[in-house]
Amino acid sequence: MKKQELIYEGKGKKLYATDDKELLISEFKDDLTAFNAQKKGNEKGKGELNCKISTSLFDLLSKEGIKTHLVKTLDSNSQLVKKVKILPIEVVVRNIATGSLTKRLGIKDGTPLPFTLVEFYYKDDALGDPLINDEHALILNLAKNKAELDELRRLGGRINDILKPFFAQRELKLVDFKVEFGVDKDGNILLADEISPDSCRFWDAKTNEKLDKDRFRQGIGEVKVAYEEVLRRILKA
Ligand code: UDP
Repeated sequence: MKKQELIYEGKGKKLYATDDKELLISEFKDDLTAFNAQKKGNEKGKGELNCKISTSLFDLLSKEGIKTHLVKTLDSNSQLVKKVKILPIEVVVRNIATGSLTKRLGIKDGTPLPFTLVEFYYKDDALGDPLINDEHALILNLAKNKAELDELRRLGGRINDILKPFFAQRELKLVDFKVEFGVDKDGNILLADEISPDSCRFWDAKTNEKLDKDRFRQGIGEVKVAYEEVLRRILKA
């Protein structure tokens, strides 16, 4: 597999073309960003940790029947992935109220939600990734039809049903997370992007210590030590 030109650089990853037009290389970066990239940082080794965490979680989800873009790990911080057209919808799944949900609705931080909440956000940095409903998504042509939106909601819920107990067994609360999906050349919806402490909130089950990117966003400690701890617990048999 030959790595070719850089085709996209996001906040957390770089995507490279390969000599196979159906496959891309996804390289995890050490960069950290917050508040729409207004706050920037970097911790050496963060990319490798996210690559390992995301690969483990995608493998787990794949074993449970979730189709993903992951083909295989290439080295410590890159994956070979199927080329997909990313749907510009961030699917956010929440178990405990925190972050933007508490700010928007005034719910007390840390309140367990009575049921799993799945929300859609429009992936558009210039607009600040606004919360949208199904009608907004259809007006903006972000999805093919209502059935595709229902499928995204179902997949978000299913991923939570797999990951929440997995982390609970490892003494971690899966507070909320964001996933992205892409459509492959045959029209299949595949889980894409990453699932890592950059895109999830993990709180220690006993102490509620934050073991995710909020450490960087809130300036409450190094992220690497926390991400190492998350990986250690994921790999625990
Ligand atoms: N999230 C993300 N990327 C984004 C926005 C949110 O990965 O561009 C994740 C975030 O890490 C958290 C969840 O989605 O796990 C919900 O984020 P929220 O809406 O509370 O926004 P925040 O408070 O993080 O700005």
